[in-house]
Amino acid sequence: MSGEYDLVVIGGGIAGLSAALTSARLGRRTALLTGGTIGGQLVSIERIDGVPGFAEPPPGYDFCPIGQEQAAAAGVEFVMAEADSLTADGELWRIGSAEGGLAARAVVIATGTALAKLGVPGEARLAGRGVSECASCDAPLLRGRTAVVAGGGDSAMQEALTLAAYLQQVVMLERGPGLTGQQSYRDEVTANPRIDIRFGQEIAEILGEDGVAGVRIRDAASGAESELETAAVFAFVGLVPNTALVDAIAPLDGSGRIRVDAAMRTPVKGLAAAGNVRQGSPHRAAAAMGDGAAAAVALDRYLASGAWPGPD
Ligand SMILES: Cc1cc2nc3c(=O)[nH]c(=O)nc-3n(C[C@H](O)[C@H](O)[C@H](O)COP(=O)(O)OP(=O)(O)OC[C@H]3O[C@@H](n4cnc5c(N)ncnc54)[C@H](O)[C@@H]3O)c2cc1C
Repeated sequence: MSGEYDLVVIGGGIAGLSAALTSARLGRRTALLTGGTIGGQLVSIERIDGVPGFAEPPPGYDFCPIGQEQAAAAGVEFVMAEADSLTADGELWRIGSAEGGLAARAVVIATGTALAKLGVPGEARLAGRGVSECASCDAPLLRGRTAVVAGGGDSAMQEALTLAAYLQQVVMLERGPGLTGQQSYRDEVTANPRIDIRFGQEIAEILGEDGVAGVRIRDAASGAESELETAAVFAFVGLVPNTALVDAIAPLDGSGRIRVDAAMRTPVKGLAAAGNVRQGSPHRAAAAMGDGAAAAVALDRYLASGAWPGPD
């Protein structure tokens, strides 16, 4: 891993894989700094819904490695590390990581989003001991037991359905008055006899010594509190964009996502953003893939012309 790249993609989720694959196929020397997991949020999902072309929705742990193999076959060089710095140096970008530094003429930020924390007592202490972010990983270990899912959006409903295939009961706690995700999931969770949906309820504390034993629940309207026994807690209550690398470089929108134009270009020369981290992202795999391809094409045109924002 040495020398100067045409393009470095930061973030190995589906947006980053798509950007790197497209760039390499355009003939650009491309490196992908993957971060923690190749496939990002999708890799642990039991059933990726809404991506055309599959008779049955594929599991993320099958789907993402195929994208990785395609990118590698196209010539993408993988660096299994997080980027820890990004600085402009004349016409070059310099990217720091524990695996060493990289230099590139253009960069795609595809660092995605992290799941928001509940911010309640017990959450950090019991992380990995019943407090989990991955239903498909933990559901088989929880067979026959009860789990609590916080949230009422797409991710919460999808993960509740994954859990309900194994567990005796899944209690969904939604602070608001209704489910907020897509209709198809609403129909599935409300029809599932193992899923108990409670509105106007939020988790006030996660209880347990060595592992999760229960939750203290607060009624959002009255403030009344009660306890519920559970073996696990899964929180899907929002997304936090991973923008630490560019906070001081590129403008963000009001939600903290990176501002881009329709070709995924930021206002900063040679810098594009793709996937969940960009302004206006619809938070869908298909959109993230499209973003990655669009960013790679825009940067290829920039590398050819030197003009920014460059020809559309
Ligand atoms: C539970 C759940 C279920 C979902 N189900 C579906 C579904 O069925 N269908 C659908 O279309 N969408 C679904 N989504 C949404 C979908 O997962 C996202 O829209 C998509 O994965 C976004 O891809 P991304 O590449 O932008 O970000 P991410 O998947 O978040 O990937 C970003 C990657 O960047 C890495 N990274 C972060 N910081 C750095 C750094 N400094 N250096 C290097 N790498 C870094 C991260 O480790 C991560 O691997 C679901 C999401 C969740 C949470």
